[in-house]
Amino acid sequence: MIHEILPVGLLQCNCSIFGDEQSREAIVIDPGDNIEDILAILAKHSLRVKTIVITHAHIDHIGGAAKLKAATGAPVVMNTLDQELYDDLDVQASWLGMEPPARTAIDAAASDGDALTLGPAEFRVLHTPGHTQGSISLWIPSENKLIAGDTLFRDSIGRTDLPGGDGRQILRSIRDQLLPLPENATVVPGHGPNTTIGREKEHNPFLIGLF
Ligand SMILES: [Zn+2]
Repeated sequence: MIHEILPVGLLQCNCSIFGDEQSREAIVIDPGDNIEDILAILAKHSLRVKTIVITHAHIDHIGGAAKLKAATGAPVVMNTLDQELYDDLDVQASWLGMEPPARTAIDAAASDGDALTLGPAEFRVLHTPGHTQGSISLWIPSENKLIAGDTLFRDSIGRTDLPGGDGRQILRSIRDQLLPLPENATVVPGHGPNTTIGREKEHNPFLIGLF
């Protein structure tokens, strides 16, 4: 499996580009910005985008979705509980002093227990609310990899002081949905360096007393 991680935009959101070597299909997760660079990576690997997945509707994760969809024709998938946040994209843009990017329709819902496929690999949707109500993580068992959005970071967790955030709920999501994954599973957070489930259990100060 091809996997490239590209930090995009002002807030350096980690955009993941997964590609299946056989079918040359791709899943792009969180195309927040820098769509030209994402398209260049896709072209370099001769990949065709099958699905665009949004872990949550913050502008740094979803801002480039409309542009990537226009360029590739791929459907955009997101949890419906973040629709309201997406509808307020221009408000989010004003927080950052940015021009509001184009918006697109969400083509399909990503709900807990859903699975997307890429070649033989399954991308399982875990609903992990707390950072936002519609936050999801993606667990890819065959790669032993978790795409954590802004739910879990190396040494930290997602902020819960923005609209839709809930500090207790994010800890419950991490405890019930993420910490049961294998200790050696790679965690790709929405920002910053990769980590593992085991490392965060041992070192993340926000998880003390949680399990
Ligand atoms: Zn966020």
